[in-house]
Amino acid sequence: MSQEVPTKQMAQVIEKTGGPVEFKEIDVAKPGPDEILINVKYSGVCHTDLHAVNGDWPLPTKLPLVGGHEGAGVVVAKGELVEDWELGDHAGIKWINGTCLACDFCQQSDEPLCAKALLSGYTVDGSFQQYAIAKAAHAARIPKDVPLDAIAPVLCAGITVYKGLKESGARPGQYVAIVGAGGGLGSLACQYAKAMGLRVIGIDTGDEKKSMVTEKLGAEAFVDFASSQNVVKDVQSATPDGLGPHAVILVAVNEKPFQQAAEVS
Ligand SMILES: [Zn+2]
Ligand SMILES: [Zn+2]
Repeated sequence: MSQEVPTKQMAQVIEKTGGPVEFKEIDVAKPGPDEILINVKYSGVCHTDLHAVNGDWPLPTKLPLVGGHEGAGVVVAKGELVEDWELGDHAGIKWINGTCLACDFCQQSDEPLCAKALLSGYTVDGSFQQYAIAKAAHAARIPKDVPLDAIAPVLCAGITVYKGLKESGARPGQYVAIVGAGGGLGSLACQYAKAMGLRVIGIDTGDEKKSMVTEKLGAEAFVDFASSQNVVKDVQSATPDGLGPHAVILVAVNEKPFQQAAEVS
């Protein structure tokens, strides 16, 4: 351990499912042989963090739990087996804190499906503390010229939609419809899609979201799901010959868009 790492720190801690979340002093964990310790400078907050507090999912969290899986900071200590991180490097804590790296899923870049995955802020302590542990093989490498506050939300919201766009198989020049385009995930999806050369049809509601999605985030068309008489038809009409988009990215939380997605493309 390096000298400047304290033994105590402040953290947001859940002692029991259902809360409350308490801001209190806890020990700073020591990194295991294959782990790094990150001094968290910024953390995003994800809706999953609320599910963890409330115990909404069948998979139980560890308790007591420090939540958070969008943490960006500086490496301040590392285990003796870690050779490819230096103290002072910038690193990110993602939802997937570590996996076995040996199963079929891990070997095919499907680490989120690994049965032994460690989940930050869920099955292991996450980024709502000053010093957080990450598996060295899985921590995100952040270039030093990239602002850490801007990177924090990319570590979950950004990765989620980037992976969705990548897995969709849509190629540059093709159309992608993004449902919930003006929200937290959707606004990132629009920007990635544009950067990937995709042509975006944003679906959301209201003038404010319309102007953001089309003027700031680069969508070519906007369909207002609240005022549209037929969302499926309007989305299809925004593409050449009305054939519909090549892919649909769904970041809405209700069911209807999932049914419509199968109809438009
Ligand atoms: Zn998340
Ligand atoms: Zn695995």
